[in-house]
Amino acid sequence: APELGGDFAEYLGWADEIRTLGVRANADNPKDAQKARDFGAAGIGLTRTEHMFMEQERLPFVQKMIMADTIEEREEALSHLLPFQQEDFYGILKAMEGYPVCIRLLDPPLHEFLPNREELLVEITKLKCTGGDSDLIKKKEKLMKKVDELHEFNPMLGHRGCRLGITYPEIYAMQARAIFQAVAQLTKEGIKAIPEVEIPLVIHVNELAFLRKQTVEIAEQVMEETGVKFEYTVGTMIEVPRAALTADEIATEADFFSFGTNDLTQTTFGFSRDDAEGKFLQHYLDYKILKENPFVTIDPKGVGQLMEIAVKGGRSSKPDLLIGICGEHGGDPESIQTCHQLGLNFVSCSPFRVPIARLAAAQAAVIEKNQSK
Ligand code: PEP
Ligand code: MG
Repeated sequence: APELGGDFAEYLGWADEIRTLGVRANADNPKDAQKARDFGAAGIGLTRTEHMFMEQERLPFVQKMIMADTIEEREEALSHLLPFQQEDFYGILKAMEGYPVCIRLLDPPLHEFLPNREELLVEITKLKCTGGDSDLIKKKEKLMKKVDELHEFNPMLGHRGCRLGITYPEIYAMQARAIFQAVAQLTKEGIKAIPEVEIPLVIHVNELAFLRKQTVEIAEQVMEETGVKFEYTVGTMIEVPRAALTADEIATEADFFSFGTNDLTQTTFGFSRDDAEGKFLQHYLDYKILKENPFVTIDPKGVGQLMEIAVKGGRSSKPDLLIGICGEHGGDPESIQTCHQLGLNFVSCSPFRVPIARLAAAQAAVIEKNQSK
């Protein structure tokens, strides 16, 4: 990449020779994946799939899926999303040819794909006052009913992550099929795709066991349908304290762990991640109760300790368990040092932070060497 030419590229090359920690990037589309490669990322540590559902031509099918009363109706709506998703995954896996791409199945609560309640209410009222089309009014009222039905006081602690995959397995089934069909297509073209299917917000091994089984079945179906053999792995995010505490059990169903330290910080400290930039937490930091902002740097007594428990627990069941981090901390130099000390395999951060992460990982290796002298 032109940005990394000359002396700086050479300097980063030295850092790469020293570091033992891998550096990946978070990317949701081929353009960002390419950027990640240009900056020296050795894979994608997190592909979030929720933005893909938000795109204009897809949203109507997503809403139809949410509004469905039966599994058949849901599957019908999802069948329209399948080609879009296959194209998404094809693009990103192709851009990362030969490198692993960790694709996370749908995470946010479904209400995020429906209109805002207040706006919808205004629309309905307006339609009624102006004598609008009665069918349209009925449709909007039905939508409103769904919005109310999905309402939760704390949606980030509610019906999201793998809980969606458990209650609506067909959503994750569609995504797994899209991933594997893309992999089969690439394999036929002679392009090496390395997909890692990631399940979010797991708190119990049984969640992962159920969803892993479904994923494996779909992979086998796609191999049979396409006549193409391919490899893949299935793993989980560790982003709730209970997952860290039961990592030994969870690891029996996981090929890899990835720490979602954004949610893990929220659930460990009880601070809302969505208000991390807000007035309260920013002001509270002035009181020096906390040494640092836990959303920026891993606190050794907080998230760091849970990570340690999870690494030990996970590797007690599976000594070679691949472990990474994909929360914002993955691009923070001090946190990268903690990740190195904990024996993680890789950090994953925004593409632009990859060079900094490469340097921080080298620095962590140097510090360790000096300490052991
Ligand atoms: C996390 O929770 O740290 C994470 C990487 O996932 P997200 O930010 O999408 O919740
Ligand atoms: Mg998360």
